Amino acid sequence: MKPVVGAAPKVVKSDQEWRQQLTPDEYRVLRQAGTERAFTGEYTDTSTVGVYACRACGAELFRSSTKFESHCGWPSFFSPLAGDAVILRDDSTMGMARTEVLCATCHSHLGHVFEGEGYDTPTDQRYCINSISLTLSPDDQA
Ligand SMILES: [Zn+2]
Repeated sequence: MKPVVGAAPKVVKSDQEWRQQLTPDEYRVLRQAGTERAFTGEYTDTSTVGVYACRACGAELFRSSTKFESHCGWPSFFSPLAGDAVILRDDSTMGMARTEVLCATCHSHLGHVFEGEGYDTPTDQRYCINSISLTLSPDDQA
């Protein structure tokens, strides 16, 4: 997938500030590109209607209507909320050619995006995102 080079992050904090704001687990994933263990995240099987925001900066990233059951062990979305909500970057760590997904607003690590896997979704893309990188705000149930 073609990397999208974003502008400089709008939210910039020092390493020390991020460490104070985030829990150690959040820090490890969001700021050190860690990965939570499969099937352990709080949103893996969530079907609540709402908006998922970046846990580091609060920017809205994904809507529940694009979340689908991938059975891969992490929350999966077939599209971000808006094209400029996330940025994509080539990631060749772990001996694999992958595409990393980052929050466009604060450049925190969210997960990876894969395409052409044959999932029955409109985009055939799977944004495989760590639960711990997200905060779900449920819609008001009238
Ligand atoms: Zn962010």
